[in-house]
Amino acid sequence: MEARPVLWIVVPCYNEEKVLPLTAPLFVRKLAQLADDGKISRSSRVLFVNDGSKDSTWEIIRELAANDERCLGICQSRNRGHQNAVLAGLMEAKDRCDITISIDCDGQDDIDAMDRMVDEYLDGCEVVYGVRSKRDTDTWFKRFTAESFYKLMKSMGAEVVFNHADYRLISARVLQHFADFEEVNIFLRGMVPLVGFRSGTVTYERSARLAGESHYPLRKMLALAFNGITSLSVKPINIITGFGVGFSILGLLLMIWAIVEACLGNTVAGWTSTICIICLLGGIQLISLGVIGQYIGKTYLETKRRPRYIISERTWEKPERHWLEEDDPE
Ligand code: UDP
Ligand code: MG
Repeated sequence: MEARPVLWIVVPCYNEEKVLPLTAPLFVRKLAQLADDGKISRSSRVLFVNDGSKDSTWEIIRELAANDERCLGICQSRNRGHQNAVLAGLMEAKDRCDITISIDCDGQDDIDAMDRMVDEYLDGCEVVYGVRSKRDTDTWFKRFTAESFYKLMKSMGAEVVFNHADYRLISARVLQHFADFEEVNIFLRGMVPLVGFRSGTVTYERSARLAGESHYPLRKMLALAFNGITSLSVKPINIITGFGVGFSILGLLLMIWAIVEACLGNTVAGWTSTICIICLLGGIQLISLGVIGQYIGKTYLETKRRPRYIISERTWEKPERHWLEEDDPE
C-alpha cells in the first residue's frame, strides 16, 4: 500500500452553535470519501478551533471529539478574530499532518472543492487557493464592497489573490516556513503568497450560509482591509512622498508666477512674499514628512523580522515528499 498524505481540515468557529451541527458531519464525510478515493490517509482529522465563543460552540466541539476520533478541537482563551483562529489551527496542525485545508464552518465554501485541492497538491502544488467564481447568493452590497476590497488592496500594494478568502490548502512544509513570519498583525491571504512555493487555484461557487449570521459586517471588513494594507505594504507612505514632490513642483510654479506678477506691477505690496513663503513651506513640509515616513516604513518592515529567503529545493536532496504515514492501516 502506497503512502498517502495526512490531511487536517482546520475550521475556525465563533458562536456557531446553529451551523456547526449541520456542517461538522459534512467535513467528516469528506475525509472518509477522500480516504476511500485513495487520496489521503485514514488518519486525517478535522480540527475545530473555538475562537472564544459565547454560546455552546465549545460544548458541541467537545461532544464531536468524544464521539468520533476523526474530530479534534482546540479552544482559544478568548475571542481573537477569524485570522488568529485560523492561524492557531494551522500552527497546531503543522507538525501533525502533511497538508491542511482551512475552511469556514458555515458551509458557504464548497466542501467538494477539496477533492480538486488535494489533486493539485498531489500534482506538486504546495499551496492551493480556493477562488470564488460567483457571488450570486451575496447581496449586491456585499458583492460590491467585497470586490472593491480586493481592488483597493491591490492598488495599495498588498498582493492578494482576487476573490480568494481563507479557503485554501497549505502543505505542512510551507507552514513550517510560514511559522518564521513572526508578525502579530496578521492578514493570512496576503502573507501566504509571501512564503512562495508552487501554488495553484481551484474555483468554486460560494453559497449562502447554512444557518446563523455573518460576523463580518462592513465595519469589520473595512478594519480587515486597513489591517491588510498597513500590515503588508508601506505604499501609503510612498503616496504621501509623491504628494510632497507634486506640491513642491506646483509651489515652484506658483512662486514663479507670483514673481512675474510682481515684476509686472499687478500686485499689492507683501502679496508676493506671502505666496512664496506659503508655497515653499508647504512643499518642504510634505517632502520632509514623506522622508521621515520612509524611515518609519523601513523600521516597520524591519521589526517584522520576516525571513530574508526561503529555499524550496536543493539538488543534493530528494525532491519527493515524505508523508507522515508509510502505510495506511486498512
Ligand atoms: N470567525 C471566528 N472568529 C471571529 C469571527 C468569525 O473564528 O471573531 C469564524 C466564523 O465562525 C466562520 C468564519 O470565521 O467560520 C467566517 O466568518 P463569517 O462566516 O461570519 O464571515 P463571512 O463569511 O460572512 O465573511
Ligand atoms: Mg461565512
